[in-house]
Amino acid sequence: MSAKITVLVSGAYGRMGREVVKACLNDDEVSLVGVADVRGKGQDIGPLVGFDKLGLTLENELASLIEAVRPEVMVDFTNPQAVVRNAKMALEQGVRPVIGTTGLEEKDIEELRRLCAKQNLSACIAPNFALGAVLMMKFAREAARFFPNVEIIELHHDQKLDAPSGTALRTAEQILEGRGALRQGHPNEYEKIPGSRGGEMGGMRVHSVRLPGLVAHQEVIFGGVGQTLTVRHDSLSRESFMPGVLMAVKKVKELQGVVIGLENLITA
Ligand code: NAP
Repeated sequence: MSAKITVLVSGAYGRMGREVVKACLNDDEVSLVGVADVRGKGQDIGPLVGFDKLGLTLENELASLIEAVRPEVMVDFTNPQAVVRNAKMALEQGVRPVIGTTGLEEKDIEELRRLCAKQNLSACIAPNFALGAVLMMKFAREAARFFPNVEIIELHHDQKLDAPSGTALRTAEQILEGRGALRQGHPNEYEKIPGSRGGEMGGMRVHSVRLPGLVAHQEVIFGGVGQTLTVRHDSLSRESFMPGVLMAVKKVKELQGVVIGLENLITA
């Protein structure tokens, strides 16, 4: 049997981080060797995720933890402000990042590409690790060829920082790659409340809903003459992201440079 992949989780105290910790603990091919979070005070991670004490403590100094435990992979679910610094720290120490944190800008991704090339390492960034969401984006891209008028409504829990969601942005990018920019709606339309028509990308409107009770949901609505078509995906719990996260953990070593999107990891 081959050796287990050693993993450090950054943002391990957070909602997604805790789920990743549990998923790693339940996977035979993965060995969780470190957990980091700015809220780390040396507390044992076991009881925080419904396990007994594990002797694995939550640390708040990522760089020194990486140096101490030398993981092969770092999974990051933190926030848009922290993720790039964390990923750079990992790459500089020879660790491959798997990034679920959303809100990275193009310049950040370029920086990570350069660092990957310099270190001869790879990284995976996925705005959505749920398989159903990846299929939703694929179907949306296909539908836009026939129904170019489209709007995106993404709905998330009210603790989410960035808007629109990484998934909405990625969906819009994929639609635009196929259909290009298109002026939608009435040429003379106006807003009585600023922002009521949502954000705009290539003529497409993107709307963000934030409410307690929600997890992560998205509707892509296409309009044609006398008909509409809606493609919808719902992540009902954070467990929905875990098979995708574990797939990325296991495949990141085989990748070249920075690979964006779970769809690029799924083989036909
Ligand atoms: P969360 O509950 O706020 O968790 C983030 C955790 O990271 C918090 O404990 C936070 O501490 C901590 N943190 C902040 N800065 C840090 C740093 N420099 N180093 C280490 N830890 C740090 O957020 P969440 O709901 O888990 O979401 C995390 C990210 O994942 C978001 O960007 C979200 O959009 C994304 N997400 C992605 C997917 C996907 O499939 N790709 C799915 C769901 C969510 P403080 O609270 O003290 O800042």
